[in-house]
Amino acid sequence: MYTAESISKILKGELLQQTGHPEIEHILLDSRKLLVAETSLFIPLVSERRNAHQYIDDLYKKGVSNFVVSEPIAAGLYPNANIILVKNTLQALHALVAWHRQQYNIPVIGITGSNGKTIVKEWLYQLLDEDYNIVRSPKSYNSQIGVPLSVWQMKPENELAIFEAGISQPGEMVNLEKIIRPTIGIFTNIGEAHNEGFLNIRQKVNEKLVLFTRSDVLIYCKDYLALNECVNHFHNLVGKREIDNALQLLTWSRKTDADLRIISVDKNDNHTRIDALYKQEPVFIRIPFVDEGSIENAIHCWALMLYLGKPAETIQERMDHLGNIAMRLEMKQGINNCSIINDSYNSDLGSLAIALEFLQQQRQHPTKTVILSDILQSGKSEGSLYEEVAGMLESKGIHKLIGIGKNISRERKSFGAVKSEFYTSTEEFLQQVNPADFQNESILVKGARVFQFERIGKLLEKKAHQTILEINLTALAQNVKAYQSLLKPSTKVMAMVKAFAYGSGSFEIANLLQFHGIDYLAVAYADEGVDLRRAGITLPIMVMNPEPSSFDAILQWNLEPELYSMHLLELFEESVRYANKANYPVHIKLDTGMHRLGFEQQDLPALALRLNAEGLFKVQSIFSHLAASEDPAKDDFTQMQFDRFQKMSAALQQQLGYPVIKHIANSAAIHRLPQMQLDMVRLGIGMYGVDSAHGFQDKLRHVSTLKTTVAQVKRIPKGDTVGYGATWTAKVPSLIATVRIGYADGYMRSLGNGNGKMLIRGKLAPVAGVIAMDMLMLDVTHIPDVAEGDEVIVFGEGLPVEDLAKWAGTIPYEILTGISQRVKRVYFQE
Ligand SMILES: *Cc1c(COP(=O)(O)O)cnc(C)c1O
Repeated sequence: MYTAESISKILKGELLQQTGHPEIEHILLDSRKLLVAETSLFIPLVSERRNAHQYIDDLYKKGVSNFVVSEPIAAGLYPNANIILVKNTLQALHALVAWHRQQYNIPVIGITGSNGKTIVKEWLYQLLDEDYNIVRSPKSYNSQIGVPLSVWQMKPENELAIFEAGISQPGEMVNLEKIIRPTIGIFTNIGEAHNEGFLNIRQKVNEKLVLFTRSDVLIYCKDYLALNECVNHFHNLVGKREIDNALQLLTWSRKTDADLRIISVDKNDNHTRIDALYKQEPVFIRIPFVDEGSIENAIHCWALMLYLGKPAETIQERMDHLGNIAMRLEMKQGINNCSIINDSYNSDLGSLAIALEFLQQQRQHPTKTVILSDILQSGKSEGSLYEEVAGMLESKGIHKLIGIGKNISRERKSFGAVKSEFYTSTEEFLQQVNPADFQNESILVKGARVFQFERIGKLLEKKAHQTILEINLTALAQNVKAYQSLLKPSTKVMAMVKAFAYGSGSFEIANLLQFHGIDYLAVAYADEGVDLRRAGITLPIMVMNPEPSSFDAILQWNLEPELYSMHLLELFEESVRYANKANYPVHIKLDTGMHRLGFEQQDLPALALRLNAEGLFKVQSIFSHLAASEDPAKDDFTQMQFDRFQKMSAALQQQLGYPVIKHIANSAAIHRLPQMQLDMVRLGIGMYGVDSAHGFQDKLRHVSTLKTTVAQVKRIPKGDTVGYGATWTAKVPSLIATVRIGYADGYMRSLGNGNGKMLIRGKLAPVAGVIAMDMLMLDVTHIPDVAEGDEVIVFGEGLPVEDLAKWAGTIPYEILTGISQRVKRVYFQE
């Protein structure tokens, strides 16, 4: 049991204030993720942009009473708090969890490598779950922050731990090694991904190997030559430890001699049989996957099972049942205007907390419902377990619980504060439920695998739509961070969510941006702003095209118009006066050379007078838009715009007599012309993963992927034609795949007859014939195994939207915003 006092000793910190000895159970790093106030310890991390010490006040008010801080806190400010002062809060977090790890003497599996870490971890969990009480990293928690949060979960009842570790620059692994202290190591593989922080592959491998400095055994595949060489070198170094704990290597290979020598890999329809020699004995497994990644991941797991001495039959039997891993939380459209988050793969407190937080971010529906199975293997007594769950549901504002399972049903009294109903099995629920009872709700479906909640998912989700736009919310948040890292800490960010957030869907994106502390949102029209307000978005919202007919809505929903002409200003002034408001927030647009909208130099004196005349307005910001910030050849022009803006905005501000936010930079300017960031930047296309200029694309991640499926495959003889107008003729006997997307979905007709290509089974297939309203045909003659139902990537991972834009003779902006509303959006977090 930890208390502030014992933690202060562990950290060699200074116990600034002690008022009690409450037990500490949870570490809280992100104030928005507070679940259980009484037993939480808040450790505010400090980065260049954010200093989490600012949230102490708020958390104290919410009942948190334990804090580790690196800034002194005025005596008496928080009379009921225990406060520990340390030099550096991140280091303190690491030291505390490293100490925690030392208390346990169980096998700990540490996994690193470029790909497959999370799958290997989850598969090992599936394979060993029957034999051990296992603690493991939630999701892909493998960073300098994720690892400590994972290891902190270790409890006395655990018999095996599985943690993953990932790094992005040299010097990080040494911290993670101290925290994880793996006794068994797995190095999955090494690829080119995320190379930025490193000089070369070897430096990256050597840095990752640091994780195994004190391990007993390291499992890896010899076929990665650079990896093999580095491991041998590393082994020579650490092998010199005392004889009885030298690092043992357990290798596998498909090409050469190894401890586990793979002899053959046979793929059938949907299974793969792998034969090998282990200690000269023939062994084999069968896995329900056929892709190379899964085969490699399975062999790592296999080697580990062999190392643990599991009998061959047990291994074979369990491998045959490996399941797909839900790597991400997805939000789908459900029946009766519901949104469904389907996480029907596991149920433990850690993953429940993550899913609840994702649910909490969704504000589009008035009711939040959780369908939850028994929680297995928590190590807590049932009573206190479900009381804790009830506390979590309550603190996340959940309105309704549907509990499924014998245990949760038995503990129903714990859930007094939430509306709830219980069923002893999934079967019973499915028999009794009336789908019409779910209306306009956000529903989290969360259950352990044995409960087969995917059946509930099927019931609640709208019928599978064949063409979808997938939006990766994690990637979007990372893109925002990538741009923020170029800004001074004081520079604000206005996120452009006009045009349905560049096609990705407004309130889902706005929710996320609000969660990540963006300062301002901007939309094109008032109705977009009203929709955001209705969905619970409270951030200030600028409206760029305020039409007089929408002024009432603007005032009613507290939206902030952009004023760009005297006439518009006068009309709006009348509405403000009529609504009896004062100091109403507005934004002033200046025309510095784009010649679209905006006041010009000669308008300024009259404008200032008018703005000040009756105290009706409070100017929040003055801004202008750059016409060619992405183009180095136009930098003189851009500089001219900037100089003009500086002069005009300074003059206007002086006449207004109070400070005003000034901004001019869009996405391209943020990285190309950082000197133009001023007080705020307006981030648009970049956060959706597209660099409209050059030089920043490799810092960005894909956000949207447009996918469809093959409806039918046909063989046609040479000389036959395809599609309307018979414009495409087969030059050879051809294979044609019809896919479910057409110009009504936003796939432009200019992409017909070979201009556009789509990705099937990893290969590009050109469009054959013209594009129809709802369908088109692809020439897949060179991809002979294409089958009905195959997934087809229109753009996204592997096929950048920029390529599609080039083929269509347009820009990515037009492609993204042109995807029709009938294409369903599916949001997910990694
Ligand atoms: C759309 C828009 C932006 C964002 O531009 P990007 O090139 O997408 O970053 C910024 N400012 C204004 C006024 C806009 O209309």
